[in-house]
Amino acid sequence: MQPFIYAPLPARVRFARGGRTQVGEEMRAIGRQRAMVISTPTRVALAEEVSDALGGQCAGILATARLHTPIEVTTAALDSVRQAGADCTVAVGGGSAIGLAKAIAVRMDVPQIALPTTYAGSEMTDVHARTEDGVKHTAKDPRALPASVIYDVDYTLGLPVDISVTSGFNALAHAVEALYAVEKNPITHLQCLDAAGALAAALPAILDDPGDVAARERALYGAFLCGLALGSTSVGLHHKLCHTLGGSFDLPHAPTHTVMLPHTAGFNAAAAPELDPLRQVFGAETLGGGLWDFAKCLGAPVSLAGVGMREDDLERAADIAVARPYRNPRAFDRADILALLRQAYAGGRPSA
Ligand code: NAD
Repeated sequence: MQPFIYAPLPARVRFARGGRTQVGEEMRAIGRQRAMVISTPTRVALAEEVSDALGGQCAGILATARLHTPIEVTTAALDSVRQAGADCTVAVGGGSAIGLAKAIAVRMDVPQIALPTTYAGSEMTDVHARTEDGVKHTAKDPRALPASVIYDVDYTLGLPVDISVTSGFNALAHAVEALYAVEKNPITHLQCLDAAGALAAALPAILDDPGDVAARERALYGAFLCGLALGSTSVGLHHKLCHTLGGSFDLPHAPTHTVMLPHTAGFNAAAAPELDPLRQVFGAETLGGGLWDFAKCLGAPVSLAGVGMREDDLERAADIAVARPYRNPRAFDRADILALLRQAYAGGRPSA
């Protein structure tokens, strides 16, 4: 028998078209009465819709969430939640809104109900973040896991195609790293492959028709599975590099994942045979090449130069990334990381 430990997080998930109208039911299910609705400034219309549906149970709207969970945004949000007397949050949006609600949940007894509108998958993990003095820190805490998640496909229909694609790559990055994580097990393996298959089919269909509800549902389901697998495993070199590039060089989160994934997956492929079934999903002779082809055919960015990285900063990025490395299947040193970053900066098709 293959020995393994499977320790899933205690998630509560509702998949329902129109599920956004059931937030009140979810509040009852988790025993809470007054919700602060959280969003980014750009998703405030969705936050207002949820607030209207909640009526007197809404303690207010906080539309201040930002990418990478800056500490100053979190500190100000804690005051607002306290003053409004909220006993839970409802985050409507992508990983930025969910990330702020997580940061609140780990600092106060205010659990989160998440209504994800991207494929980032943060809602299924207990990982929370803090960006302070130009460095992004992440940590696990059971209180960061949303108490309830509502997947409502309607809230993803308007997600622009470019964000849908890069966010889908963010989800794929979770599957890649969960496949070789030290906590990997047969259940997370199944989740990752099913998720990758769903996203490999859904993203081209969304590119063809952004309003394709079935494709959107499939992408959301794939993103959920990727987040689920990540939630019971851990991340390696790929996420370390993306956290470095996002936290210290302000690169956009999902596009950075998209650019880096073919290179990091290619770098790790020989040391992680668990990745081979994923290579088959993308139908290429190498995993890095297959992911790069997939990004290209979806019109996604393939170079760090194209997402705003400065060549002069590559050396400093390598220094930060190796200072406190995450566990990874393939050993590396600073020279390896610098070479990997240079390869991603140029954006050519990886050979592995
Ligand atoms: P995001 O939440 O900033 O959303 C990206 C963009 O998409 C924003 O401009 C937003 O306004 C727009 N958008 C979102 N939903 C939309 C919709 N339905 N229609 C139109 N536009 C929409 O970014 P993200 O990529 O979802 O999340 C990134 C953040 O989440 C980062 O801070 C990252 O670290 C974090 N994250 C955390 C985890 C975790 O497990 N802790 C996992 C993934 C991402």
